[in-house]
Amino acid sequence: MSNLSPACRKEIRQYSLLTTLSYLIGPALIIISHIGSLLVFVTGLSLGAVLWAILLYVTRMLATTGIYHRLLTHKSYQAPAWILWTGSLVAAAAGQMGPSWWKAHHLAHHKHVEQALDPHSPYVPSKGIRGFCWSQGGWLLSRQFFPAKLPTDVEKDSVLRAIDRLHFFPLVAIGAISYFMGGLEYLGAFFLSTTLLFHGVQTVNSLSHIFGKQPFVTNDQSRNNSFVALLTLGEGWHNLHHAFQTSSRHGITIRAGQVCYLPDPTFSFIKLLESLTLASEVKVPAEAILLSRAK
Ligand SMILES: [Zn+2]
Ligand SMILES: [Zn+2]
Repeated sequence: MSNLSPACRKEIRQYSLLTTLSYLIGPALIIISHIGSLLVFVTGLSLGAVLWAILLYVTRMLATTGIYHRLLTHKSYQAPAWILWTGSLVAAAAGQMGPSWWKAHHLAHHKHVEQALDPHSPYVPSKGIRGFCWSQGGWLLSRQFFPAKLPTDVEKDSVLRAIDRLHFFPLVAIGAISYFMGGLEYLGAFFLSTTLLFHGVQTVNSLSHIFGKQPFVTNDQSRNNSFVALLTLGEGWHNLHHAFQTSSRHGITIRAGQVCYLPDPTFSFIKLLESLTLASEVKVPAEAILLSRAK
């Protein structure tokens, strides 16, 4: 970060020193996670360690998609505060930074999609393989890492604000738990799970804006990508999401003029919460509205 432009340094200075330091711990931990993943080549992975890595991947992905994205950012359903707080704690444990940082960047993505202020477009500032690498994580090592402003609703919630500034604690805690459960082998499984999770989430920014179908009319390059949907528990149905940002269900497409529903585990999770009376006002567009935006 030493070769930052004056404009960039000004951008960073709007944050207190403690917040700046707290935020910078995020990418540092992701880099450590990549290096730590190499441990599995030394220790190998038992079935137990593989299952632990899968459990960590699925639960933390679900918190990122179902809580950070569909609840906190887009308010596609309502839930009790303790669900939002607990889910945000788990999402922070994914190495996805805190709720203020995450929502700020995601709203900027929707507002400025494929333009200069989109933090992670695969088309701006570069295209091709450079654009892919930028959207797949390179942007986190640039001045775009610091959001222009933080969302006031999240900042007003003292619990969410605390999780945002202390976002690295849950991640480090899971790493420590992994080590105490099974030594270096489980620590390696934790690093591997965290690294795969990081890249899984980033494929929404990269692959889902490059490859896939566009059944709905949008003013961007968002795509429905089944491979990304598999990795991200339904977030890869990204063209639907850009067309209907407050829809809690992303797994929707149009085939032969008919609305078709696609596998969307995050939506199934929201419906499970609803059946337990832990979610309400679950928004899904009516079929007539879906068809009105079909290409
Ligand atoms: Zn997008
Ligand atoms: Zn979104």
